Amino acid sequence: MKVEEITKEMQEDLQSVSNLKALNELRIKYLGKKGMITELNSEIKNVPNEEKKAFGQRVNEVRTLFQTTYDEIKTRLEEEELNQKLASEAIDISLPSTKVSMGAPNILEKLIEEVEEVFMSMGYDVVDGPEIEEDKYNFEMLNIPKGHPARDAQDTFYLEGEEILLRSQTSPVQVRTMLKGKGKVPVRVICPGKTYRRDDDDATHSHQFMQIEGLLVDKDISLSDLKGTIDVIVKKLFGADTKTRFRPSYYQFTEPSVEVDISCFNCKGKGCNVCKHTGWLTVCGAGVVHPDVLRMSGYDPEVWSGFAFGFGAERLAMLKYDIDDLRVFYNTDLREVKNFDRGELENND
Ligand SMILES: [Zn+2]
Repeated sequence: MKVEEITKEMQEDLQSVSNLKALNELRIKYLGKKGMITELNSEIKNVPNEEKKAFGQRVNEVRTLFQTTYDEIKTRLEEEELNQKLASEAIDISLPSTKVSMGAPNILEKLIEEVEEVFMSMGYDVVDGPEIEEDKYNFEMLNIPKGHPARDAQDTFYLEGEEILLRSQTSPVQVRTMLKGKGKVPVRVICPGKTYRRDDDDATHSHQFMQIEGLLVDKDISLSDLKGTIDVIVKKLFGADTKTRFRPSYYQFTEPSVEVDISCFNCKGKGCNVCKHTGWLTVCGAGVVHPDVLRMSGYDPEVWSGFAFGFGAERLAMLKYDIDDLRVFYNTDLREVKNFDRGELENND
């Protein structure tokens, strides 16, 4: 076959090629082992000497023409195929999405974290202690010796005899912290944790509940320091206009002891169902740490003083999120829990 005919056929072939697979077949047809250009090349030796040079040149020209055209077409086809692929894989954002079920933090955990963050910003450490506790730490070192009537109010789960129990308050963590500190000041800790009492479970009672206790020991600590600290936390939780008042109370481990009321965030003190028409809500028990408690934990009450406070986490969360049954905090039925999953619960500040 003549060089011109091969060139013509080759050009037609290359012009009509529409995909990479067909292009590769052309490469084999012309440059493969038995390809048409390859065979032209092997014919050079049969050409008379005087024509060899010219023939060789023409074969080279055809080969070069094929190669450059082939490269151009290959680049173009690859680009086209890529664009097609991208177009076919594009996401149609107008289609409705599949609903993905998302978890949300337990509302009680969320509240505790919020309280922790406020106290940490005031320099408090968050500390933890054992839930299975010794009577010594849960009662005796908090000024509640065996046989004391104050023990009756905390109907305690004893595990072994009269020495090992499920802690009925988080206060033993404070005792442990002071003992560990060996007189080091200041002590600034917050101890959120589970506590246990023999209570029948109902809307407002639970045999297991969360306390958030705090302790500060330093020089010249007074009730007004306590009030300032409580103010910060209740304003953060219930709004900047929340007022605080102290009422005298009685606890073994503090002297004086107080109950802390906040102005009702619902009616702003006018009286409503939430505050039982008193305008006030009790949120916390607190007081100045009893000198005997300091002494037993290795702090000289002549030199150091402190305050302690305890919030019921469920009580705070029930008030803050308008929940009337504390059992929902421990409910695992998603249909009920969902009712309290309000996404980002609004902050009052
Ligand atoms: Zn009210």
